[in-house]
Amino acid sequence: MKELLSDAHARAVRYLDSIASRSVEPDDAAVAKLLELDTPLPENPVAPELVLAHLDEIGSPATIANAGPRYFGFVTGGALPVSLAANWLAGAWDQNAHFVVGSPTAAALENVALHWIRDILELPESWGGGFVTGTTMGNFSGLAAGRHKLLADAGWDVEANGLFGAPEIQVVVGAEAHTTLLQALALVGFGRERVIQVPVDDQGRMRADALPELAGPSIVCLQAGNVNSGSFDPIEEIALRAHEHGAWVHLDGAFGLWAKASPAHAHLAEGIAEVDSIATDLHKWVNVPYDAGLALYRNPDMARNALSITAAYLPTGEERQPCDYTPESSRRARGVETWAALASMGRSGIAELVERNCRYATRFADGLRDAGFEILNDVVLNQVLVSFGDTARTQEVIAAVQKEGTCWCSGTTWKGRAAMRISVSSWATTEADVEKSLTAITKIAD
Ligand SMILES: *Cc1c(COP(=O)(O)O)cnc(C)c1O
Repeated sequence: MKELLSDAHARAVRYLDSIASRSVEPDDAAVAKLLELDTPLPENPVAPELVLAHLDEIGSPATIANAGPRYFGFVTGGALPVSLAANWLAGAWDQNAHFVVGSPTAAALENVALHWIRDILELPESWGGGFVTGTTMGNFSGLAAGRHKLLADAGWDVEANGLFGAPEIQVVVGAEAHTTLLQALALVGFGRERVIQVPVDDQGRMRADALPELAGPSIVCLQAGNVNSGSFDPIEEIALRAHEHGAWVHLDGAFGLWAKASPAHAHLAEGIAEVDSIATDLHKWVNVPYDAGLALYRNPDMARNALSITAAYLPTGEERQPCDYTPESSRRARGVETWAALASMGRSGIAELVERNCRYATRFADGLRDAGFEILNDVVLNQVLVSFGDTARTQEVIAAVQKEGTCWCSGTTWKGRAAMRISVSSWATTEADVEKSLTAITKIAD
C-alpha cells in the first residue's frame, strides 16, 4: 500500500509540475494512444503498480490541462492544492457520507462547511443544504423540494402518488435558462418544454416587466450568472413579486452565486436570501475537485420531505443526516474538500479569488478590444464573449486557439452569433497566464 501510494503521489506531482508548460489540449498522438486501453478484460490479476504505471503513461498525456493555469473553457474552476490534498486524504478514509453513523467525520465537516457557506452568502442559519454532484442535481433537488411544498399545500402527496392526476404546477423560466435547469425540470416531471419562457434583455437577464401572471401553484426559476454573459436575473425584484403569489422561487447560481463572496461584486447577487432554493457548484468557483455541488433550502424540511429515504420509517433526530437533503444514499464525503478550501482561503481568500478572476476577465476583454475584436457582453463578472468576425471566421479562430495549445476557450452562440467564451475561474491563473493567452489569441486571430 505504502509504495503504491508513494508512486501515485510522485506521478501526480510530476503531472502537475509539467502542466503549465504543456499544450492545454492534448496532442492527437496522445489521444490516439487511448485506444491502447481498449483491451479485453484481464483474465487474471495484474500487479497494482503496473496498472498505475499504465494509467499514467496512457491517461495523463491525453488529459485536458484543466488543472493548469490557462484553461478557460466551460467555467470549470481548478482544484486548489489544499482541496486536492484533502481529496487524497478523504480517498484514503473511504467514508460513506449517507448517515452520521456511516461517517461522523463527513457529517461534521459538511455541517461546518454549510455553516461557513451560509456565512459567506449571508443566508440565515435556518437554511439547510445537501452536498450533491453538481448544479444539475442541485437544481433537481431544489425543484423537488418546491414540488413537494406546492403539492402538499394543494393536498397532494407527490412522493407517494407521483404526478399523474396531481394539481398542475406552472413553471416559469428565463429564455436564457441553462440547459441543465431544463434537464432537471424534465427529471422532476415538469417537462423541459411545458414551461413559460420569460423574455430576456440584451445581457440575457430575465425581464421583470415580462413576468407572467402567477395563477395557482407556480415555480419561478431564476439565474445568478448567465453561462455566457455572466449576467444576473433581477433576483430580489422577481422573488418578492413571485412570493406575493405564493410561488416557489428556485435559483440556479452554479458559479455566479459566489459573486456574493466579493464585496465588489456582491450587488449582482442581491436578494438571494429571498428565494426558496438555490443550486450551486463547488467544483467551479470554490475550486474543489469534481463532483461537488450544493443544494440550499430556505426551509430544509421541504427538502427532507421530498428527498429523504428515512423520513418514512426512522424518527426525526436532532442530528442532520446528510442523505436527507440529497437524492442519493451512499456517496463519497464530498464536503471534505469544500471544508478544506474554505478553511484555507477564509473569507478574504475566497473574495480575493473571485475578484482576481474577474479582474483577469476584464483584462481579457480590454486586450481583445484593443486588438480590434468585438466584445459581445458587458463584462460584469468572469465571463467574456468575443467575436472575430462572421461565424465561420470566429469558429475557425476558436478551433485554432484550442489546437495551438497555449490556452483553451469554449465556443458558444450568443444572440444568434458565434462567439468564443473565456471563463476565468481557476486559482491557478496568474496575470502572466492572461498576457500569454492574450498574445496567443490575438496572434492566431490576426
Ligand atoms: C455549470 C452550470 C450548470 C450545471 O452544473 P453541473 O455542475 O455541470 O451540473 C447549471 N447552471 C449554470 C449556470 C452553470 O454554469
